[in-house]
This record gives sequence, structure tokens and C-alpha cells, in this order.
Amino acid sequence: MEKQPRHRVHREFANTQRLIVECELSNCPVCGSVLKPRRPWHMRKTVQTLKGPLYVAGKSKECVNPACPKVGEHYYASRAWRISLPKSTYGLDVLAFIGWQHEHEHRQLVEIQQALNERGILVNERNVGKLYRQFLGLLGAVQEPNRRKLEATVAQHGGVIWAIDALQPEGYGSLLYVLYEVFSGIPVGAMQREHISADDLVEWLRPYQALQLPVLATLSDGEETLEAAMKQCWPEAPHQHCQAHFLSNLAEAVLDYDDELRLNLRNDLGGLPAVPKNALETGNGAQKPKKRKNSSLLG
Ligand SMILES: [Zn+2]
Repeated sequence: MEKQPRHRVHREFANTQRLIVECELSNCPVCGSVLKPRRPWHMRKTVQTLKGPLYVAGKSKECVNPACPKVGEHYYASRAWRISLPKSTYGLDVLAFIGWQHEHEHRQLVEIQQALNERGILVNERNVGKLYRQFLGLLGAVQEPNRRKLEATVAQHGGVIWAIDALQPEGYGSLLYVLYEVFSGIPVGAMQREHISADDLVEWLRPYQALQLPVLATLSDGEETLEAAMKQCWPEAPHQHCQAHFLSNLAEAVLDYDDELRLNLRNDLGGLPAVPKNALETGNGAQKPKKRKNSSLLG
């Protein structure tokens, strides 16, 4: 679990939705055996997104094959960055919104802050500036701290796994492509475009290819251009379609219904009248029900 920095204000939000993100690897990258999900969450935080507050928790997996040299190794739900960058409590969609408003709509940071406040996002002008710089950092080339983390990942796992996700933040037509490393969960670079060819992608990936890190595998969803570009940049690395992407996309679609169902159940059942006392005691010869501590179903 991540420790919150001391200066961070603790905020309570009403109607927070929940999202559990799982490690996207299905098999151990070393021995190939199926990874076992671990119960405790390795990360949890509440994130402000344009769609409202979201409670995000990450579940890791581990290799349990006793013959594997990496038995007991934990693999984290690196894809949680898709909701918000590591250590940030603002959604990636908020960053993309700020970037778009500032660069394409030429709005000042204070105007963007007001627009965000109107959408229910609690943020001050200083933080809007900070989030804008984080977004620019994400769009930039590999940063030095990231390079060091990637080298540490190679030392620990023997290589990196590159994955690409295409996101469509709400409110505008351009896609946000993000390249991230699976073991470390670091989003290393992003590109914002409306239409993209495999050549554009290869061009974008060139600085990462030039890092010359050993690449154990590449991951993407089923989009052909993504797969072609990754195969061109890292021809030696096996490419996998990320099943977790598909599954978590499905989960996102049912999330609203899941929450609505919970809420409705609570409203329906919470309002039931308590069972009258004498109904339990007289029983009319029928089997006598056990006494409940709480008469209401959802205490
Ligand atoms: Zn293993």
C-alpha cells in the first residue's frame, strides 16, 4: 500500500465508485506457469476524474511454481496508471483535459481551474499548473528518473515488457497513446493524435527502441497498427494481446451498473420494516425462526 505524503489533504467524497485493477500478466515471464492472484491490495487511492471520484485498488499476482528461479516474485497491477499517474490523485483524463484546453482552446490556467471546479473537481490554480507540467512531461521523451527505474527493472527481471494503450479522454476526438513498462508500472511516454499510422507509431517509439534495453515481450490490445509497430521496433520480442485490457474494458462498462445495484439494494432492503416481535414468538406451530440480533437486514 502506498503511503500518502503528509502534506496531502485527506478528502472524503460522496458516491465514490470502486475499480479493482489486476496485474495484466497471466503467466510468469520466467517459467511460463500461470500466476496466482494475491489477496492484499498493493495500492489504493481515491482519484478525482472527470466522471467523478473513483476509488482505485491494485491487486498483484505471484509466481508459485517452486521450480521457478523467480518463485514468490510479485507482479503488480501496473495498469492502474491508466486511471492516474503513479502518486497522483487526479485522473489522467483531468491532465488530458488541462493539456487540451490550454494548447488547443488557448485558455488560461485560472479559466481551466474554474471549468474543473464547475465539473466538481477540487483543485487550485497552482495545482492546475503542476498537472499541466506533468502532462507535458508525459508527452516528452524518456526522462532521466524513468531511465534509472527502467535500468533497475532490467536488473531485477532481466528485461522490460513494453505495452501500449490508446485512451480516449472524454470531451474531444483525439486519442492519447501511452507507452508504459509492465513490471514497474511506469508510463514512459505519450502522444496525442487524431489519426495515426504504423509509421507514426514507429517514429514515436524510436527513442525507446534506442534505449537498447532487453525486451522480454510486448503487449497491446488487438489493434493491428499497434501490433505492427511494436513488432517492427522489437522484432525479437514475442507479442501478446493483452487479455486484461479486454477484460477490464468489460469491467468498466458494468461498473456503473454494479454501483447502481449496490445502491438500489441498500435503498430497497434498508427501508424494510423490522420484523414484529410477536411474529417470532407465536410462530403458529411452524418452525420457530432463530432470533436475529439486528431486525433490519442491512444493519
Ligand atoms: Zn515463474
